[in-house]
Amino acid sequence: MRLADRVRDIGTETAFEAAGRARALEAQGRDIIHLEIGEPDFDTPPNVREAAKRALDAGFTHYGPPLGMPQLREAIAADATRRKGFSVDPANVVVTPGAKPVMYYTMLALGEPGVEIIVPDPGFPIYESMARFTGATVVPIPLRQEHDFRIDIDELRDLVTERTRLIVINSPHNPCGSILTPDDLAAIADIAIERDLIVLADEIYGRLQYDGEFHSIAALPGMPERTIVLDGFSKTYSMTGWRLGYAIVPPELVPVFSRLIINSVSCTSSFSQLAAVEALTGPQDAVDAMVQEFRARRTLVVDGLNALPGVTCRMPHGAFYAFPDVSGTGMSGPQLAERLLLEADVSVLSGTAFGSVGRDHIRVSYANSRQNITQALERMAALLARTAIVPGGPLS
Ligand code: PLP
Repeated sequence: MRLADRVRDIGTETAFEAAGRARALEAQGRDIIHLEIGEPDFDTPPNVREAAKRALDAGFTHYGPPLGMPQLREAIAADATRRKGFSVDPANVVVTPGAKPVMYYTMLALGEPGVEIIVPDPGFPIYESMARFTGATVVPIPLRQEHDFRIDIDELRDLVTERTRLIVINSPHNPCGSILTPDDLAAIADIAIERDLIVLADEIYGRLQYDGEFHSIAALPGMPERTIVLDGFSKTYSMTGWRLGYAIVPPELVPVFSRLIINSVSCTSSFSQLAAVEALTGPQDAVDAMVQEFRARRTLVVDGLNALPGVTCRMPHGAFYAFPDVSGTGMSGPQLAERLLLEADVSVLSGTAFGSVGRDHIRVSYANSRQNITQALERMAALLARTAIVPGGPLS
């Protein structure tokens, strides 16, 4: 088959492959603990499920408007106005099947050969993959542990050229759990305004921030007209399988996103959208309880990782991932992740799944019970105890 060049080296999200490998081992009878997964291990709240059932019975089983149902766009605008700190017009809200399509549509709308797009490294792999798909040049901005995995503003300023069109930021961050401070956001906004850039602000973990208040870059003066906010329901309401996300875009991008939606998916599932209205407007106690539980697990996992020989882990400020440096074990991130799966029945992701800066890291998701996390840490300790540390050199 003669394939188009652009699909030849399209990227992927390693989490799906890692989960598949772990499940294949389980099918052979192995007892794997899943710490590779990027989805909350909670059920969708019952009031949300009930709303979907009611919507199905009321006949919301047909196509809806491409940009989303008016009642959901209004509910999103009201919620975002309250939580993100700027006035959101429902007309600028675009509902999508999951938040991921917002990345795709943003890259299709702005990326092309000759254009540079700055993405975090480590970062969610789809930014880089989709930017490259459009023929744009990807410019990684390193997030380093010694800088608390935040963007170094001087480094960002140096990376911007006259070809830069888009900067992607993600706070709270996957995989590092870091957050951008209000000063960081202000400095990034200054650069964006000065150099006439668009910002894709991935705020999907905005409700899962444990330290300080959440801030959106779009709330800063001059930014609503140059920010695409990406958010959704997958993480906040444990609705990964429902495929529900949204964008808040500058007015001139609304018709562009509308055409991209019509050309790809037509619309987001109608009964899912009515469930999303209930998620936003109904009781929030399930979200609060989930955040409390993640907060407790965060301490458990970080303390446990820091107690392992050769492992150092910063306290993440948001999301549900720890991103420890494992170089002191004598193994790289990919080597340790492989041995943990094959020899300790613990599935984690290598830091390199998120870019080359992650070479010395693994990503540990704490979207699993405290009991399983404790057991996984014991298995990790046992593996490292039977593995001699060779300072400065990889073992296997
Ligand atoms: N953005 C980040 C940083 C994520 O980690 C994820 C999912 O893992 C998404 C976006 C995609 O969310 P959704 O499942 O709603 O497409």
